[in-house]
Amino acid sequence: MLSISKLQINKRQNEMPGKITLTMIKPLAVKKGYIGDILSIIIKSGFKIRAMKYLKLSIDQAKAFYKIHEDKPFYNNLVEFMSSGPIVAATLEKENAIEEYRKLIGATNPEKSEINTIRNLFGTSLEKNAVHGSDSDENAEIESDFFFSKLERY
Ligand code: ADP
Ligand code: MG
Repeated sequence: MLSISKLQINKRQNEMPGKITLTMIKPLAVKKGYIGDILSIIIKSGFKIRAMKYLKLSIDQAKAFYKIHEDKPFYNNLVEFMSSGPIVAATLEKENAIEEYRKLIGATNPEKSEINTIRNLFGTSLEKNAVHGSDSDENAEIESDFFFSKLERY
């Protein structure tokens, strides 16, 4: 049996930067019944689910999550939309996770996204674009910590 300290070391080694990304299935995609289809694509594309939650963000939680965009003109609408209904948040693992996941979801605007990407298949508009994906290793860690404690990440 491993001692606690060895388990902690193993856990940290599993969380090397570059291997994880944080996704959210956004409220409208949840409402339209796309959770299963989106998760199926994610898993078939080789991502492992390290943590997952179904929850509704409060306005303040959505504000905090999107704080990096607080000066953008779309911030208030985005915060309102992201707290308008339940979402699925998940930490995903794959080699080169950030780049691989952004390739899988496609461009921010579903109308401009590549065919068969998640946003192309399930997005409704630039704002309601079905899913979030982290933009850097550092933000993947920050965003995963936002939703999940260490004990909730496997
Ligand atoms: P991404 O999600 O592709 O990383 P950004 O980080 O630039 O894109 O923006 C965060 C989210 O804000 C987008 O996913 C989208 O929901 C929304 N958004 C971005 N740009 C706009 C815009 N011009 N108008 C409305 N909503 C936007
Ligand atoms: Mg972004």
